[in-house]
Amino acid sequence: MTTRPRLFVPTDLVPGGPVALDEAQSKYLFRVMRLEVGNEVRVFNGRHGEWLARVTEILGKSAGILKVEEQLRGQHKLTDLQLLFAPLKKTRTDFVVEKATELGVEVIQPVITEFTQAERVRTDRLERLAMEAAEQTERLNMPRVCDAKPLMLALSDMPDDRRVYYCDERGDDEATEWGGEDNRARPMADVLNEHHVGSAAILIGPEGGFSPKEREILRKLDGVYPVSLGPRILRAETAAVAALTLYQAICGDWRAAGDGTGTDE
Ligand code: SAM
Repeated sequence: MTTRPRLFVPTDLVPGGPVALDEAQSKYLFRVMRLEVGNEVRVFNGRHGEWLARVTEILGKSAGILKVEEQLRGQHKLTDLQLLFAPLKKTRTDFVVEKATELGVEVIQPVITEFTQAERVRTDRLERLAMEAAEQTERLNMPRVCDAKPLMLALSDMPDDRRVYYCDERGDDEATEWGGEDNRARPMADVLNEHHVGSAAILIGPEGGFSPKEREILRKLDGVYPVSLGPRILRAETAAVAALTLYQAICGDWRAAGDGTGTDE
């Protein structure tokens, strides 16, 4: 099992090319991992696959240079999957971003809904979290973390060919708890098994769920599919993991894992 540290770098990766380390990367390699000149590091940039690089210079504790040597893995196309979620309390939003990265999401789009409670979303902080999760999870690219935007704007920006699976735990009978059985969404697995592959987005609401008005609009939108994640009310972060897992298992890159059909770009 390799123990070589793994870093996301913005630099082009070519044999013999240099990689200049920033302060955080230098501290991690030289203080935390105690690497020395000659030690190996794995680097990836989301475009050129993963490469073996070697420490050639340590400039104090806050800078260093690597030299790129050989390619270890070609760049694989990831599932074209996005996550739209209403920001939650800080640590729970962090959890969603980290798990979405591990589960192969390409774009993470926080959306502000009527019942969203969270304080301001710090995109720069979420990007750092996503980068650390991408390095740990052996991904070959970083997900794009977008600035929060209103739900309806995010949906109107969505291209027509991207299916949006909107996770809805309620029925439509306002007289009963959770809306009773009226017009409940179909099981997500059944809907996915009818659609199979393609561009997709998963939409998860806030702690307080979607408002009646949002639900009415969502249910009328073309290309937006209400889906159920079972008979229990899941916390938003649980729902995000459950929906992403289902998607990857039925339509995404979990099906290709292990049979060597991963496609190089
Ligand atoms: N409205 C409820 C409330 O006030 O507690 C539950 C909201 S739930 C905590 C947050 C989000 O998770 C929902 O908006 C929905 O997107 C998703 N979710 C939770 N349980 C679900 C289920 N059984 N089926 C589909 N989506 C679910």
